[in-house]
Amino acid sequence: MARNSVDLKKARVLVSNDDGINAPGLKLLEKILSSLVREVWVAAPETEQSAASHSLTLRRPLRIRKLSERHFALDGTPTDCVLMGINEIMKDSAPDLVVSGVNRGGNLGEDVTYSGTVAAAMEGTLLGVPSVALSQVYEDNHSVKWATAEKWTAKVLKRLTAEPWPPGVLMNVNFPDVTAGRVTGIEVTRQGRRKIGSELVRGTDPRGEPYYWIGAQRREEKYSRGIDLEAISRGAISITPLTMDLTHGPTLKKMKARFK
Ligand code: MN
Repeated sequence: MARNSVDLKKARVLVSNDDGINAPGLKLLEKILSSLVREVWVAAPETEQSAASHSLTLRRPLRIRKLSERHFALDGTPTDCVLMGINEIMKDSAPDLVVSGVNRGGNLGEDVTYSGTVAAAMEGTLLGVPSVALSQVYEDNHSVKWATAEKWTAKVLKRLTAEPWPPGVLMNVNFPDVTAGRVTGIEVTRQGRRKIGSELVRGTDPRGEPYYWIGAQRREEKYSRGIDLEAISRGAISITPLTMDLTHGPTLKKMKARFK
């Protein structure tokens, strides 16, 4: 089934994230979209849900808190938010586009499998709406270069939405950790991979019980050309088309032959 491109000026856009309803990246995205699209609707988690992945809340009811005409906070995951955004909040007429972010921190390589930001775009995709995840990479937690995402988001969204992409595919966009003027270009990349370390903090709590705290997991300097991590390391904006179908074609073929 071919899909039409999205006319941003006429578009009704559902925005979500995993950093929560009060996150600066969400406010920033709303601001950018308000002058770019017809309607901005927000359905975002009450509290931070980073690394929530594509989880759904099934064992308790969900509450929607209406903040204003088109602003809603949910006590759930990013996936819950997009599901409820499309099937309840905007049930009379589905959004033309889902945009998730702007996340505080990159979603590169294997991050996409943990990411709540990317999962929100996955949920939009599963529900048949073209979806984009936006993330601002940072090295120093205390100086996230939001101005880079601010300057480039409109340009990226305009170019992306001019070209329709197939159902089942979502766009994972990362902005590099350089100032807006230092961005070296927009590159379409493959999802990369890095070696995952195991920086585990081990300690003892005030009651004498041991605890563990998962720390920064990854460090790898050398990346091959054409992957998201490598483009970001050169100061480029990375756009990776991701698919919801996780099947590995070559292995499928090989195994099929073997199991015949
Ligand atoms: Mn996050």
